[in-house]
Parts: sequence; C-alpha cells; structure tokens
Amino acid sequence: MIIAMDGPAGAGKSTVAKRVARELGLTFLDTGAMYRAVTLVVLNRGIHPSDEERCTAVAREIELTFDDSGEIRIDGEAGEPDIRSDTVTLNVSAVSAHAGVRSAIVDEQRAIAERRGGLVAEGRDTTSVVFPGADHKFFLDASAKERARRRELQRPSERPLAEIQADIERRDKLDTTRAHSPLVQVPDAILIDVGSLNADQVVARILAHVRGER
Ligand code: C5P
Repeated sequence: MIIAMDGPAGAGKSTVAKRVARELGLTFLDTGAMYRAVTLVVLNRGIHPSDEERCTAVAREIELTFDDSGEIRIDGEAGEPDIRSDTVTLNVSAVSAHAGVRSAIVDEQRAIAERRGGLVAEGRDTTSVVFPGADHKFFLDASAKERARRRELQRPSERPLAEIQADIERRDKLDTTRAHSPLVQVPDAILIDVGSLNADQVVARILAHVRGER
C-alpha cells in the first residue's frame, strides 16, 4: 500500500506520516530529507545552489539510504542533524527546484517503494508526481502563522517567531511557484486542516480514511 501526503513547510507531515506508518507497519519515507541531504553535500562541496549541472551530479552520485528508525544516511554516514541546519533550510528550495535533481531523487523514491513493497511518503510532490497512483492521498495545510508557531514549539530556537514565519512564507512561495513539480493540492487528495487539530487527531483521521471508516 502506498500512502502519500503533501503540504507546505511546518504542517507536521513528518510527525504524522511517521506515526501512520508505524500503526500500519509500513516504511516511512521523508522525501524532504533527501533534498536536504543533496543540499548539504552541495554546500559542503562549495557548489553554488544555482548550478543545476553540478547539483544534479551530486544527486545522482551520493547514496541515500534510511536506517531502521527512518533517519537518512548519506553514503553510509548519519545525515541528522546537519540536514536540518539553518543554512541547509535556507538553500534547499533552490537546490530542489532543479529538474535534474528532482528526476534523480524521484527515481530513488520509486525504487525504495518498490523494494519495501509500499510505504507512507510525505513531501511536496508525492501525491502529484512521485506516486500519482497512491492508494490514499492527503494534503495537510494550515496558515503560515500557525505553522510557524508549531515549528517553534517543536524545535525551540533562538530565532524570533516572525523570522520563522518569514522563512516559511519564503519557502511556500518558492515551492508553489517553481516550474518543476510545484506544491499543489491534487483533486483526489483529502484536505486536512491541521490548524485546528493536534497530531493525534490528524493521525486518527488519516487512519479512519485508510481503514475505510470514513
Ligand atoms: O519537508 P522539508 O521541509 O524537510 O523539505 C525541505 C524542502 O525540500 C522543501 O522546502 C522543498 O523545497 C523540498 N522538497 C521538495 N519536494 C519534496 C519534499 C521536499 O521539493 N517532495
């Protein structure tokens, strides 16, 4: 079974997808972690995020795997927590906008689904491009203000809330307006407004749909 969930930054997709996967005994696939991993290597090698050819070469060359807890490994090394740094977050939307990078990563995502015989994937294009034939599709959304507030609660940082919200809005804009695989809510995805729900309620709602109780 393939369950795909998309939505903007800070909508709580990872937390929810991880728990849904655990409940159903499926693999969890954090597709954003893969774009973050490419970005980390790009920056470490001193490659400019706008250099499509070299970013694509990195995406094709590095080996991305996931350990048993669902955390990414880059050529066998732990990707966490470096892939979550502010520098990676600032640059990931530019790197992930390249068609060449996307095609390399999408191939890899489909291969993982094939190997695992199903999964719960979350990201920006899992319902629209990577797994258009997914058994269940969801779109998790909330206002930028609400998502910034949640992000702050989840990962307390020194940064003021207004700055976190501005970063979320900047990424929303880049992710929804890019030429290749922009973030969209596909017509067959079920919209879940996470603004008024906690993670338990979102998970329960998704499981009810998957189990045919809704
Ligand atoms: O989900 P997360 O915030 O970790 O994703 C980081 C970035 O990776 C997103 O802002 C987006 O630019 C990119 N991404 C993407 N397609 C996906 C998942 C993430 O372009 N399926």
